[in-house]
Amino acid sequence: MSQSSSASALPRRRAVRVQVGSVAIGGTAPVVVQSMTNTDTADAVRTAIQVAQLARAGSELVRITVNTEEAAAAVPEIRARLDDMGLAVPLVGDFHFNGDRLLAKYPACGHALGKWRINPGNVGRGSRRDEKFAAIVRLAVEMEKPVRIGVNWGSLDPAVLARLMDENHRRPEPWDAATVMHEALVASALESAGAAEALGLAHERIVLSAKVSGVQDLIAVYRKLAARCDYPLHLGLTEAGMGSKGIVASTAGLAVLLQEGIGDTIRISLTPEPGAAREQEVIVAQEILQCMGLRSFTPMVISCPGCGRTTSDYFQRLAQQIQSYLRAQMPLWRAEHPGVEAMTVAVMGCVVNGPGESKMANIGISLPGADEDPVAPVYVDGKKTVTLKGDTIAADFQAIVDDYVKSRFTRT
Ligand code: SF4
Repeated sequence: MSQSSSASALPRRRAVRVQVGSVAIGGTAPVVVQSMTNTDTADAVRTAIQVAQLARAGSELVRITVNTEEAAAAVPEIRARLDDMGLAVPLVGDFHFNGDRLLAKYPACGHALGKWRINPGNVGRGSRRDEKFAAIVRLAVEMEKPVRIGVNWGSLDPAVLARLMDENHRRPEPWDAATVMHEALVASALESAGAAEALGLAHERIVLSAKVSGVQDLIAVYRKLAARCDYPLHLGLTEAGMGSKGIVASTAGLAVLLQEGIGDTIRISLTPEPGAAREQEVIVAQEILQCMGLRSFTPMVISCPGCGRTTSDYFQRLAQQIQSYLRAQMPLWRAEHPGVEAMTVAVMGCVVNGPGESKMANIGISLPGADEDPVAPVYVDGKKTVTLKGDTIAADFQAIVDDYVKSRFTRT
């Protein structure tokens, strides 16, 4: 059974549709996966290579920081290099403190970007803040660019927070500190969006985010934001952390909101482990959406954890090998075998749950557990088709998967 079969059953909050190059965010568009580079943007070659890696892994938008004149000057070259590679993935420029100056001095940078991200908390300080914010918004209007107004808990606009704290002190029953902080994040995002519209930025050119690093705070803030506007929402737990903690925290927060129909694009802000691929954050984002039945990206392997009935790590290695093989085939299969991304493959450790799971998947194999005959029954579309044995089980099973994909998912 396909994991995507329940996708349409989940109601989505209806947001306006914002077009970023070829990618739509909001409206009836599927939840968009995005990511961010960690290269020096001024190094156009390395940045273009990393954007390409993220895009090939499935990132539908890629954000790059634009923090210096050298970075702003490099953006058109990064765009050109991606175009030369045949990659249309829109770039999002992340601007802090000096975005007004960089965009005015390097208009080609602004034009090469599909969307700009500005943070109301650090667009500028004091009396200069409104002036710098207005300068960026006017340039976005002129260049017809959508803007994400991205509030962050770590750089919340101090003026908004101070005002809300004052208001809170005057309440007969003041809110607790967390509630005031949540309200300040939401107010900062909504008031900035209102100010941008007053300056001429179209309603359907605005995306909002209000990122925090705590799961319960994230849920509370986005529920408020979703209830009070129809801008598309960019979801993400900021500074999610490293390894399993980052993945679990992001999943815990995003899954609750996505289940409630909140969220039009997601980014998983993992701290990469030393030497780990940057693309991991893209894979995690895809897996969250696919496990929830919201989108399908890569055929999924269903495998058991193994237990005292498993006699070796053979089935673990087979599950890993098949998952890697399916992911590696997707660039080709996506074009030649539409629909294959929803396929499920079961790789199970013994006959206790093996045949049952195998019958529920498109293809399944049940490896021999302790005291079982050294054979591996294979099920295709719920029916047992062959029993594999000997040293070639892995290769034979992979060939069966290949044949199934070619016969079942062919472009008509
Ligand atoms: S399917 Fe078999 S090997 Fe896998 S966890 Fe269940 S009993 Fe253990």
